[in-house]
Amino acid sequence: MSHYSFFNIAKKAIGGHQSWQPAWRNVAPKKHYDVVIIGGGGHGLATAYYLATRQGISNVAVIEKGWVGGGNTGRNTQVVRSNYFYPESAAFYDHSLKLYENLSHELNFNLMLSQRGQLSLAHNEHELEMMRRTGNAILLNGIDAYELSPAEIKKRVPLINLNARYPVMGGLLQPRGGIVRHDAVAWGLARGAYNAGVDIIENCSLTGMDINDGGITGIQTSLGSISAEKVGVAVAGHSSEVARMAGLQLPITSMSLQAMVTEPIKPVLDVSVISPSIHMYTSQSDRGEIVLGGGADVYNSYAQRGSLPAIENNVAALLELFPRFSRLKLMRQWAGVVDMSPDTSPIIGKTPVDNLFINCGWGTGGFKAIPGGGDTFAHTIAHNKPHPLIEAFDWWRFERGALIDESAASGVAH
Ligand SMILES: Cc1cc2nc3c(=O)[nH]c(=O)nc-3n(C[C@H](O)[C@H](O)[C@H](O)COP(=O)(O)OP(=O)(O)OC[C@H]3O[C@@H](n4cnc5c(N)ncnc54)[C@H](O)[C@@H]3O)c2cc1C
Repeated sequence: MSHYSFFNIAKKAIGGHQSWQPAWRNVAPKKHYDVVIIGGGGHGLATAYYLATRQGISNVAVIEKGWVGGGNTGRNTQVVRSNYFYPESAAFYDHSLKLYENLSHELNFNLMLSQRGQLSLAHNEHELEMMRRTGNAILLNGIDAYELSPAEIKKRVPLINLNARYPVMGGLLQPRGGIVRHDAVAWGLARGAYNAGVDIIENCSLTGMDINDGGITGIQTSLGSISAEKVGVAVAGHSSEVARMAGLQLPITSMSLQAMVTEPIKPVLDVSVISPSIHMYTSQSDRGEIVLGGGADVYNSYAQRGSLPAIENNVAALLELFPRFSRLKLMRQWAGVVDMSPDTSPIIGKTPVDNLFINCGWGTGGFKAIPGGGDTFAHTIAHNKPHPLIEAFDWWRFERGALIDESAASGVAH
């Protein structure tokens, strides 16, 4: 595989860039693997990458029904942060952010991590109080958080309208938050996993599971049967369907979540802004587009498209805060199928079926969790016991009533 470096680019340029190797090759499945991962999104690819590089298990296949990164990983709005309320979430998401901070170097692939800061806005006294409580919890969790006054927000975000219908009364900034280029995360991890010996098998759907004596022994796919010691599932919005193949019922609801971008403009916004009560978040991409999103469409769906009212609501919310963007043309819109769990936290680890592991329930916020999810899921699969950072997010917490409801606690999404 070609190493990406200044020297190599210059060398290849002399040859007219004809000798670059593909970043990974799509291969036909073997009859047997130590571990098969279902789903070639960020979580599946990161799991395979860390299995091969940290757990010493490289006889691994990732099977993906479409193309690598074609699910939510290539469709999200790229926000990364770790300013969570509960200590369990803070520890997990900060581990993930720290892995992101070094991942470009580790993968030799520029993920374009931009720690430009992530700013949550408060629009009334009650919200401001909640935000201060969240900010204190975040600081106690050892994570960076600063309260900003309206004047400080205006200085940081000159185009914002502080006197919108819901006036801006303050904000909470995580300076280490920001954005990461989502396609690059999928491509960099696929390349890294392939380079470490993992088979990446695109255009291959899981169609069934072989369960014997309460344990999984293999899978059925559109390209034939594969036997495996262990199987890890990371299929986001399709988790309920796939769990059903093993006779399991998941408390997951699948919904469409949309995002959209305007035409590109010069740099005007160098922080990622979210308003939980106006229900909108926005940032400017490296190409200059204003990226915006909001809440999920309010009905269940397996379709990678959303409804028109959601677009109208998102645009109206953006223009409340940034009236100047009203002159921009909306260029593209798309949707992903998000896997919402009852407490907005992930379900990751073992399942009631032996050797079958699940990684789902990330809902609207699992992009930031990709390196952390992959690392801890790989550890759990390899050792057959939960990694300490994900113990609290296990399958059985709903029976114990041990929910970790981040949205309810902090009022902050994405
Ligand atoms: C519009 C939008 C905006 C978002 N914004 C953010 C954000 O700003 N920050 C953030 O942290 N998170 C965000 N998210 C959430 C985030 O994108 C997801 O939580 C995360 O990408 C999930 O990764 P994944 O690998 O679990 O799933 P995916 O990337 O969806 O990968 C799952 C893969 O499984 C495959 N699959 C499904 N069924 C089968 C089968 N039967 N056989 C084989 N393969 C199968 C699918 O084709 C898919 O490629 C957003 C999501 C959307 C849709």
